[in-house]
Amino acid sequence: MAVPQNKISKSQKRKRRTHFKLQAPTMAICPNCGEMTLSHIVCKKCGYYKGKLVVEPKAEKVTEE
Ligand SMILES: [Zn+2]
Repeated sequence: MAVPQNKISKSQKRKRRTHFKLQAPTMAICPNCGEMTLSHIVCKKCGYYKGKLVVEPKAEKVTEE
């Protein structure tokens, strides 16, 4: 296995990692229920995608007080 000849210094390593950033996911508003959803993914709340019911939504939890 190839082994690096020189140690990467902390500063070199940190400079390289300045480009490693988390991106916020692209969100869209569901046209069926108006909830924020991930774009190009079935709505988690109502189970609709492209105006059709694709997945049966899970039964909502009823909060008892
Ligand atoms: Zn929806």
